[in-house]
Amino acid sequence: MSDLLESARPAPEVLAAFEAATGFMPVDEGLALYAAAVEAARRTGLPLLEIGTYCGRSAILLAAAAREAGTVALTVDHHRGSEEQQPGWEYHDPTLVDREVGLMDTLPRFRRTLHAAGLEEHVVALVGRSPRIAALWGRPLGLVFVDGGHTDEHATGDYEGWVPHLAPEGLLVVHDVFPDPADGGQAPYRVYLRALAEGFEEVSVTGSLRVLRRAAVPGAPRA
Ligand code: SAH
Ligand code: MG
Repeated sequence: MSDLLESARPAPEVLAAFEAATGFMPVDEGLALYAAAVEAARRTGLPLLEIGTYCGRSAILLAAAAREAGTVALTVDHHRGSEEQQPGWEYHDPTLVDREVGLMDTLPRFRRTLHAAGLEEHVVALVGRSPRIAALWGRPLGLVFVDGGHTDEHATGDYEGWVPHLAPEGLLVVHDVFPDPADGGQAPYRVYLRALAEGFEEVSVTGSLRVLRRAAVPGAPRA
């Protein structure tokens, strides 16, 4: 791991906003995500993209890293929630239901959260289904953070849709990687194994968060 990756830490007010935000990421994983985001942004100068905005907890860190490195964070979500966040399921939060339409809507909480953190200017929210947006995308990315749907269909769709846009030496971060099925679903783990099989190099392991680096183009000068 490079010194840069180890040394980049979020400012105290960014960390406080992250800890106060609604969401699923523990602090140690957040620190690893932030360090990866700063390194990717500095190394490539390219935008950082997240799949799975939810209420903006991890997006706070990507936006702060983008601000730090002079780029922008992009975050993709249809804001209707994953399977396990629907009414009756384990991760349902009834305060996130839009009473008028009767569906989950995490976009208002996300917007308030990023506004309160003073990071609104450093993040662009892309509202829609991940594969549909990926199919329209045509720009290189410095980091792809896969934290969307946990079925094989969604996790594989996120990998296949976005990884082709990841620049050489860019970082792929996968959340909720559980090698033991007793700890959680296996779709993100299968995405992680596929990335390793396709030539990604492991940079760090923190809880269920894996940071992987795409190989440099052979013969090309290092950035
Ligand atoms: N990164 C967040 C947690 C994301 S939860 C945090 O740190 O708190 C997963 C999110 O992925 C949910 O908000 C859900 O709506 C979204 N999602 C699931 N499948 C999706 C898809 N195919 N396209 C876009 N968003 C999706
Ligand atoms: Mg997650």
